[in-house]
Amino acid sequence: KVLVTPKSFGLYKDQAFALLREQGYEPIENKLGRTLTVEEILELAGEEAVGIIVGIDPLPGFALAQFKQLKAISKYGMGMDNIDLIKAKELGIQVMNAAGTNHISVAELAITLMLTMARNITSVAAKVKGGKWERSIGYELTGKKLGLIGGGQIGREVAKRAIGLQMEVSIYDPFWQDTAFAEQYKIQIISELDILYQESDIISLHVPYLPETKEMIDQRALKRMKSTVMLINTSRGELVNEDDLYEALVNNQIYGAAQDVFSSEPPEADNKLIKLDNFILTSHIGAFTHESVERMVLYSTRNLLEMLNG
Ligand code: NAD
Repeated sequence: KVLVTPKSFGLYKDQAFALLREQGYEPIENKLGRTLTVEEILELAGEEAVGIIVGIDPLPGFALAQFKQLKAISKYGMGMDNIDLIKAKELGIQVMNAAGTNHISVAELAITLMLTMARNITSVAAKVKGGKWERSIGYELTGKKLGLIGGGQIGREVAKRAIGLQMEVSIYDPFWQDTAFAEQYKIQIISELDILYQESDIISLHVPYLPETKEMIDQRALKRMKSTVMLINTSRGELVNEDDLYEALVNNQIYGAAQDVFSSEPPEADNKLIKLDNFILTSHIGAFTHESVERMVLYSTRNLLEMLNG
């Protein structure tokens, strides 16, 4: 048996399920149509599953230890922060992510959020729909300085698109080695985060959630940014201290922020950020395009079979 948790998997499941069945694996579908809890995962798959194709549903160490037959976890996506990788290794459970399947879609969303915020699209649309004709003045992106934190698959795709929009792009990534890419696209590689904070008109986060990146955007970082900065987060909610961000937004210490991700998803109904006009959001849809979902379904299935069959 193989547990398949992501709801969007269902859109392109036929080919994937045929592949699994060809090799003797029977899929268990998530019929609830939402992210599962640890208890639900264990109930569905604890006894029988040899593999899991998992979205953002939690797989902490204590749960991994309770599976009776689990051999492999295939992440339907990129960020593996919902899986206890250390415990998985300890238990001999293999883990792979679907790298290279959703970076274009996430990059396009980051650019979309920049343009949406620069032209006040959400507030203008809400006002006009509410009966108030408003023509608000926004900003151009051309010539603006974009600071990318993290220059991996997504960061690079954002960089290429931003260069196309005639922005000036800088990247902070302590593991950066690709001088050819930086030269080709005329990207400045910055070795100090504080410089990126001070110089950027727009800052976009493209790092994984790790102990060292947890709440990297806090009061200290926000204080170093320009008062006109737009902050974009399509990576993980945990990268930002949401209380500090709220204070910065409510005091107009920064121009605005856009998030696709939250430390708790869905965000609590009383989340203070959501009410602010200079805060815009999407509902963790970075990877949710038909093209990307189709690739994630196929790659995560192939990855699982590769791990199970050796
Ligand atoms: P990637 O592994 O290709 O790139 C991550 C980059 O971050 C690497 O180049 C790495 O060197 C760099 N990095 C690591 N630690 C850093 C640090 N402390 N400071 C600066 N840079 C650092 O990953 P990716 O495909 O570009 O994805 C990035 C993140 O985006 C994922 O980890 C995931 O959390 C998030 N993501 C979100 C969605 C969504 O739906 N919104 C979809 C896919 C990925």
